[in-house]
Amino acid sequence: MAIKVTVKVTTQTNISENLSAVTKDIEAAVADASRPAGSVTLVAISKTHPAAAARAALDAGHRVFGENRVQEGLDKWPDLKAEYSGVALHLVGSLQRNKVNHALGLFDVIHTIDRPKLARAVAVEIDKSGHRPQCFIQVNTGEEPQKGGVLPADADAFIGQCRDEFNLPVAGLMCIPPNDEEPSLHFALLREMAKRNGLESVSMGMSGDFETAIRFGATHVRVGTAIFGQRPPVKVT
Ligand SMILES: *Cc1c(COP(=O)(O)O)cnc(C)c1O
Repeated sequence: MAIKVTVKVTTQTNISENLSAVTKDIEAAVADASRPAGSVTLVAISKTHPAAAARAALDAGHRVFGENRVQEGLDKWPDLKAEYSGVALHLVGSLQRNKVNHALGLFDVIHTIDRPKLARAVAVEIDKSGHRPQCFIQVNTGEEPQKGGVLPADADAFIGQCRDEFNLPVAGLMCIPPNDEEPSLHFALLREMAKRNGLESVSMGMSGDFETAIRFGATHVRVGTAIFGQRPPVKVT
């Protein structure tokens, strides 16, 4: 199996050790950037890994997790949420309108609001269900056709629409930079967009680049491989 370098993975995955290593790296990056301790939330991305892997992280005391598919979240997390208190579950993958009701019943934070029809559906479901997840707006900073996210040129208007027309609880912005580009430019762009829109939270940085993302102001880093080990190759959208 081809293994992507630049990612710290042990062959025998020790989730609890990986979690403390990543946590230390985050703390060091936060201190290096002269940012306040605790200003970055680690979202542990457990997608494709079994409940047992998530459980190992839960037993180590971690409580913030992310999945990229609604169905996988539904298969894995209701039991774990019942068993462990204080779990916050983030949806970091694309959301279909017909899954919005399921998503709002399970996820506490949604990172992938990226089009008016979806934003409206989420708003309607918030009214109906009373579940009110924190929302991040995904920006397609690399303008990649295969990726979700509003285009940078449309972002300010869409953010305004989400807040004013749909009354969504918009916490911040999220991006997934192109694989083959220096991520810093994308991180800087997203941070700037958040700032000029008065948004506090910025979700950016994965296993290979979370320290850079923190230097550029990430408040939420989404780390999978460095905690849970390699996954079978899947497309990130
Ligand atoms: C899978 C995924 C991650 C985690 O990626 P790693 O490189 O394994 O840390 C982060 N964000 C999103 C949106 C993902 O789909």
